[in-house]
Amino acid sequence: MAKIGWIGLGNMGNPMSQNLLKAGNEVVVWNRTKSKADDILAAGAAWADSPKAVAAAGDCVFTMVADGPTLHAVALGDDGLVSGLSPGKIVIDMSTVSVEESAKVNDAVEAAGCKFLRAPVTGSTMLAQAGTLGILASGDKTSYDKILPLFEVMGGNQFYLGGGDEARVMKLSLNLMIATTMQMEAEAVVLAEKAGLDVSQVVEIIAGSAVGSPLTGYKKVPIGTGNYAPAFSVKLMIKDLGLAEAVGKQYGVPLESTTLTKAKLELAAHKGYGDMDFSVLTKLLEEDSNYTR
Ligand code: NAP
Repeated sequence: MAKIGWIGLGNMGNPMSQNLLKAGNEVVVWNRTKSKADDILAAGAAWADSPKAVAAAGDCVFTMVADGPTLHAVALGDDGLVSGLSPGKIVIDMSTVSVEESAKVNDAVEAAGCKFLRAPVTGSTMLAQAGTLGILASGDKTSYDKILPLFEVMGGNQFYLGGGDEARVMKLSLNLMIATTMQMEAEAVVLAEKAGLDVSQVVEIIAGSAVGSPLTGYKKVPIGTGNYAPAFSVKLMIKDLGLAEAVGKQYGVPLESTTLTKAKLELAAHKGYGDMDFSVLTKLLEEDSNYTR
């Protein structure tokens, strides 16, 4: 049993930390909006008043927050987790952030005599609940080996990618594929439904076809029913595609379908769909095609 600090109880952080608690660990949590901790506190976790207090309480400290600026705020800000560290602890960030944002936190954590693991995840809220996420990790290998049993509680697939920020790049490479797949599916679905086919049958066929994937399976219901409640929001996907574009620029790799898909998502956000699931790309194309279900 480990004493775990956990910062960030959003769509992902909530079920992931709940799984650690259910596995018999002691969990101390902080979230900007305290009410989102109600469930996990009722299940037996403890509350800390700041990221600093979380870091002081845990042997290891996890962060699962929206983006790089938020990670910097909870790690490096006043009352940030770094100010609560004592030497020998391990800090694990599971958010999706850029290499530069990550490296800055690594430097501060190492200056406090601690180790920093980057462990972004693949898979959405359903897999977070089931404890079957894919975990892409990089950083100090000895620390990785110590944290692995906790990763195994949250994820069904573990990948150790190297001693630095390799996991950040892999995560962005994956997400650009996930986003562009949703744009492709939007085009296939709207074409078929405007030609008179039944959308629920169309998404079934796509999911079971040669291009079917876990992703097209998860999105059968949102796209088929037009219910775009967020598993992964448009806003967060725009953030990830922007980070992927920056890596593309750094390495001289043009990412044209990524850029096109990001523009579509920005249009969706502009229309007020920023907090909806990114599969709302289908609804956006229906509107652009003057099609109403
Ligand atoms: P989310 O539901 O939007 O939760 C974001 C978390 O960040 C919340 O705890 C939120 O606190 C916190 N936060 C945001 N701004 C903050 C600020 N200024 N100061 C302090 N805390 C702040 O996001 P999510 O879906 O859980 O995603 C978390 C991370 O995982 C993101 O980096 C995302 O890209 C990545 N990811 C998500 C998915 C997915 O399917 N959702 C899949 C893989 C990876 P409040 O509760 O107070 O708002």
